[in-house]
Amino acid sequence: MKLLSFKKGIHPKEFKYFTCNKQTEVLSIPDEVCIPLQQHIGAPCNPIVEKGDEVKTGQIIGRSESFVSSPVHSTVTGKIKTIDSYLHPAGTKTQMIKIQRTGDDDWQLLDVPKNWQLASTDELKSIVNEAGIVGLGGAAFPTHIKLAPPEEKKIDSFILNGCECEPFLTSDHRAMLEMTDEVLDGMAIIMKVLGVKKGYIGIENNKPDAISQITRKIQKSDYNFTVIPLKVKYPQGAEKMLIEAVLKRKVPTGGLPMDVGVVVNNVGTAIAVANAVIDGKPLVERIVTVSGDGVTEPKNLMTRIGTSFQKLIDECGGLKEETTTVYMGGPMMGISQWDLSVPVVKATSGIVCRTDKSTNGTSYPCIQCGTCVSACPMFLLPTKLARYSEHKLLEEANKTGILNCVECGSCAFVCPSNIPLVQWIRIGKLKVGEMVRSKN
Ligand code: SF4
Ligand code: SF4
Repeated sequence: MKLLSFKKGIHPKEFKYFTCNKQTEVLSIPDEVCIPLQQHIGAPCNPIVEKGDEVKTGQIIGRSESFVSSPVHSTVTGKIKTIDSYLHPAGTKTQMIKIQRTGDDDWQLLDVPKNWQLASTDELKSIVNEAGIVGLGGAAFPTHIKLAPPEEKKIDSFILNGCECEPFLTSDHRAMLEMTDEVLDGMAIIMKVLGVKKGYIGIENNKPDAISQITRKIQKSDYNFTVIPLKVKYPQGAEKMLIEAVLKRKVPTGGLPMDVGVVVNNVGTAIAVANAVIDGKPLVERIVTVSGDGVTEPKNLMTRIGTSFQKLIDECGGLKEETTTVYMGGPMMGISQWDLSVPVVKATSGIVCRTDKSTNGTSYPCIQCGTCVSACPMFLLPTKLARYSEHKLLEEANKTGILNCVECGSCAFVCPSNIPLVQWIRIGKLKVGEMVRSKN
């Protein structure tokens, strides 16, 4: 069978073998968690608890009045220790709530209907919002907003993203194998809210066990979803690439999937939706892949949000002496960490530890080889965009399409001169975005 894909892209080494065949383990609940008030795209939450308050597992401790936001919950049963500014794995200091655990879980669950199939879409959307669900593939966009597209955007298809194209990461792969029912139920709930009949599950062909397990389960169920095996290519899991591969639709410049009638959600997000709507459980935990040649015993760990990176690494036998880099996320789009006291957040799909010494940070002049242009899945000119960003030529960067960059890192990965293309482009995107908003 011919596998579907998108044009261009790259083939980095996958390194999935470290963890793809290992059953997910449940990490013990930590004695202390540190919950950032911003774990999503949009407005940060304000604390609604005070130092000394007692909180239950699943209790909302921060929320915002802003529409583009998502509440945060206590992930243990305990006492508020401090509300202060701490280091976030995104690299900045942000306000967080530290909670000292005082005992076993005493849950504060959400009010949910007995049968979600009979619930109204507004009721389901409200549960997804109150559960604090955001995109767990790494983008952390509030899910309740994705489930409420404007009237004029007619959505006809939903795609569940099971690609997990970043090297090393296997948390979605394991979730598809170990939590198949939750994945399918979550997808069905999302499709009911959106009112769409066509549901696709895109999975890269390097996960044949997940493809056959999901296909088997669908055949035995009432669900009418279509599994689409996809070519193994990076960044197959980027929304725009996935839509192109599965539906042959092109998201327009500066547009969103809803502009071509599609909503995309990640596998982990579907599980979170099922847990919230069926069991009343807010988003307090997720699977985190701890992998790479820099950690002693790589694993997938079901982890409470707010647990320190250090605890996960200790559970995996610690870092090796020769470890050079620890990323939150994979090596393509991940963020380097220098302090392992940072907490796991909703967007922490993995902690990847490398011993790679090949990149010492030195870059060389561009040799005009064009390799970055050949790799870019968005048909951009990365070398120009990076130069415009470096020299603050924001109008030029905007005209050259910097806002279309999906920050996949393919250009930087292939550059023989080791130029930090994506880093420059990311900075440029932020500035161009601000410029465009200030003009509107
Ligand atoms: S310019 Fe952006 S979209 Fe294109 S390869 Fe580089 S990071 Fe990816
Ligand atoms: S890959 Fe690197 S060296 Fe080649 S054109 Fe792009 S920026 Fe220049």
